[in-house]
Amino acid sequence: MADGAVTGNVFGATDFDDHELVVFGRDKDSGLKAIVAVHDTALGPACGGCRMWPYATEAEAVRDVLRLSRGMSYKNAMAGLPLGGGKSVIIGDSRTGKSEALLRAFGRVVDSLGGRYIAAEDVGITVADVHVMGQETRHVAGLNKGHDASGDPSPFTAYGVYLGIKAAVRHKLGAESLKGVRVAVQGLGNVGGHLVRRLADEGAVLTVSDIHAETVARVVDACGATAVDPARIHAADVDVFAPCALGAVINPESLDALKAGIVAGGANNQLSTDAMGAALRQRGVLYAPDYVINAGGIINVAGEVLHGYDRAEVLRQVERIPATLTDIFRRAEREDRPTSAIADEMARERLAAARAAKRNPALARVAE
Ligand code: NAD
Repeated sequence: MADGAVTGNVFGATDFDDHELVVFGRDKDSGLKAIVAVHDTALGPACGGCRMWPYATEAEAVRDVLRLSRGMSYKNAMAGLPLGGGKSVIIGDSRTGKSEALLRAFGRVVDSLGGRYIAAEDVGITVADVHVMGQETRHVAGLNKGHDASGDPSPFTAYGVYLGIKAAVRHKLGAESLKGVRVAVQGLGNVGGHLVRRLADEGAVLTVSDIHAETVARVVDACGATAVDPARIHAADVDVFAPCALGAVINPESLDALKAGIVAGGANNQLSTDAMGAALRQRGVLYAPDYVINAGGIINVAGEVLHGYDRAEVLRQVERIPATLTDIFRRAEREDRPTSAIADEMARERLAAARAAKRNPALARVAE
């Protein structure tokens, strides 16, 4: 078992961060094995996606759900949303192990939490699957039909990432426009695909990669981009590297080859370890913390959860992402610390303030 993994001891696990609730859900008939982790509800009910993945071990699944749910607390806090952090995982192969019975059984697990956790889609779970879960519980979000459905979050994520790249370029290069700025985009899926169109419209010079050749060919055609080998995109000679595919793309190996002065993209968990934040800073690379720049999607989902869905209001909230990033960049400079550490600290400060206000509502009124 890997170092720091759960060894029959959830409370002592490296990734356990005083999570409020970790629930193991089982339905023998459908084969459901699920874990829901609610990290922090000081700001509101926990909201985050459900991931279906064939984890090699249960310890790996626990580790993932603990890390992902904490990430959602930080993301929601930094996006200024009155939502807590939670996430869920279903252990299994989404191509072969998914059934209506399994999804409905998962919906019942979510329902048993009485609204403390609101489930949305994530890797291996589609919006249609969330609809099936929704037959058993109203505590689901990110739907594409029905009253107040918020639809596909990806264009909103991509819009926030685009604005975040502009904020980073303004901060680091002093440029107001992306015209002529060289950007390498890794991954041309839902987020990357929308992002490259916005970047191309503003005259950025694009280098792109994806493991699907047809997708690459389409983007090269539509945006005049240059394609590179997926294994080398992080080493492209560009101003901005925008990871929009996998996690852990910034790791000790890729770092050495990195030429970009800015890392700003939509992927979750871009740093392989916290230490990578300091390593980027040491190399003079400006890093836009992933959960801050990619919050557009959850802001859109929140529009459905919190009030009647209002697209204009969602866009206004997404448009606050660059100001939050600029605050982080400036504070990192003042304190000579990594942007990732500053973002974590700001998120923790917001959560602590919300907890204090909950304990003492008079404090919250004074703060207002
Ligand atoms: P997606 O599956 O639609 O797109 C991912 C793309 O990356 C695919 O086209 C895939 O072929 C490509 N890819 C996979 N491995 C690659 C590699 N080694 N090199 C280059 N390309 C590779 O997913 P998405 O919804 O666009 O999400 C992308 C990232 O953004 C993920 O990390 C996701 O967690 C994160 N994210 C997405 C949203 C959202 O609204 N969709 C919100 C927040 C964060």
